[in-house]
Amino acid sequence: MQIDRLGIHDSVSAVFPPEQLRDALSGTGPDVGIVDDQSARECDGVVTFAHEEEFLDCDWIHSIQAGYDRFPLDELENRGVVLTNSTGIHGDSVGETVAGYMLMLARRLGQYARQQERTEWDRPAWDVPFTLAGESVCVVGLGTLGRGIAERANALGMEVTGVRRSGEPVEGVDRVYASGDLHEAIAGPTFVALATPLTEETRGLIGEAELAAMDEGSHLINVARGGVVDQEALISALDEEGIRGAALDVFAEEPLPEGSPLWTMEDVLVTPHAAAYTRGYYESIAGLVQTNLERVGADEPFENRVV
Ligand code: NAD
Repeated sequence: MQIDRLGIHDSVSAVFPPEQLRDALSGTGPDVGIVDDQSARECDGVVTFAHEEEFLDCDWIHSIQAGYDRFPLDELENRGVVLTNSTGIHGDSVGETVAGYMLMLARRLGQYARQQERTEWDRPAWDVPFTLAGESVCVVGLGTLGRGIAERANALGMEVTGVRRSGEPVEGVDRVYASGDLHEAIAGPTFVALATPLTEETRGLIGEAELAAMDEGSHLINVARGGVVDQEALISALDEEGIRGAALDVFAEEPLPEGSPLWTMEDVLVTPHAAAYTRGYYESIAGLVQTNLERVGADEPFENRVV
């Protein structure tokens, strides 16, 4: 493969200005330019947020996200198009966001922010606030995101458990359960944080039965993908006080529709699929793309190859 023309698709503007990435990649070898759907066809490689049919004419697509559920994997395979993703760069940003969610819920900061909007001075009931120190979190999916979450939870003095397909131990996680023991793993902890990709195996991973298995005082955190959770079952569980609360960055439908009860539920935090946003994002993407340009040049295998 030879990458002479590299396009930065204009869809990356959902996360950062395309010019930032173009400038960061200038001088790395190929001719780098900002492209739309049509002009992407003329590129050997394209760096993108969205997927467009026109990319099937390229040799290589790099997704600026870790999730690759929006790409037609079988079609890419059949057409011989390489797909790489951006896993490995979100441990700090998403880890910090999840630490923030847990602090907001435990220390009632979400409640006070809502009250401030209404200029309302109101203290919580004595037995509602708690400290994270001594509480527990179960992290489902122990990759980049999961380990970033585990690291912060440890620093906050929490007990950290996790779920991983193999059940093999992971540094910084007190106990690791195999996927088959999911119900046992999520039954006790104060927080359950989801950090798996959305795959055939994980679609609807958390449904009615799993929510029923969770403790009544527990909270569900989803920074993975909306499809990992049965959202209707979650709304029912919150309504019926089967669980205490939730912090959600991803939803069945995005943007979350205006009429969704999740917007206004007490003890539910809604963030706009922005858990990984950070001003240095384009630099991390430039690093990944540059590594792969070098690998293509040296005829070595791609890093973060999905297809
Ligand atoms: P990663 O590949 O580093 O880690 C994913 C981990 O999940 C892997 O260890 C994998 O083995 C594990 N896994 C897969 N299926 C599992 C299952 N059934 N049970 C338990 N573990 C399972 O990926 P990552 O960078 O940590 O990202 C994970 C996902 O999070 C992405 O695919 C993406 O959908 C989502 N994500 C969301 C945001 C956001 O802004 N909210 C940002 C980055 C990633």
